[in-house]
Amino acid sequence: MRYLVISDIHANLEAFDAVMAEAKSIGFEKVLLLGDLVGYGADPNAICERVRELNAEGLIRGNHDKVGSGVESPEGFNAVARNAIRWTYETLNKENREWLAALPAGPLIVDDMIEICHGTPFDEDAYVFDDLDALRAMHAARRPLCLFGHTHVQVGHYLSRDQFGLATADDHRPLGIPLDDANRYLVNPGSVGQPRDGDPRAGFGIVDTAAKEMTIFRVEYPISKAQARILEEGLPDVLAQRLALGR
Ligand code: ZN
Repeated sequence: MRYLVISDIHANLEAFDAVMAEAKSIGFEKVLLLGDLVGYGADPNAICERVRELNAEGLIRGNHDKVGSGVESPEGFNAVARNAIRWTYETLNKENREWLAALPAGPLIVDDMIEICHGTPFDEDAYVFDDLDALRAMHAARRPLCLFGHTHVQVGHYLSRDQFGLATADDHRPLGIPLDDANRYLVNPGSVGQPRDGDPRAGFGIVDTAAKEMTIFRVEYPISKAQARILEEGLPDVLAQRLALGR
């Protein structure tokens, strides 16, 4: 099975379309989506509709989906995120808001090899920022390949019998990560719509379970168009500016 793995679209339609076009040219069979469809970006309704059409094999919610659909309050969001999520809540139509509110919480077991979560397998809202977080997440995972999002940083960790390390130490993209049966893996495919690892290109991944390999990609998209949409909707300027920086 070839799974397309996407996360943190954040209502960025231009980035989503670029990722889907690239992924289709590479080839995949099913889609896994790790949450945060909305929040920050200017096209939450269009993204909900596009994602529904994907008929994803695995689809879980992120923290912005919860707040944007009214499941949770924006308590804990900073001022800019709060402004954008209020706008998102008011802009979503009823059908899309109800659909988002009904998305399941992670973690979700996909098959014998893969499980998906938004933040970590032990807490959907927790962040994996350092090695200790990564180890804790790997120990909580019930499948050898745990896919996560939330940090908007494209990264992969592996744990073998005697070693813990970065499977993505190489900056080159696309980058193949061979999936050894004896090891465990924790991989973030990066954010489609708001990368924060210094590379403004949209991130995504493809897992090939038969070939036992995950590949992570970056793809260019029309950033200026996504920025113009954010300003057009009256969302905070900084949300447009950060897209060009990938921060
Ligand atoms: Zn996010």
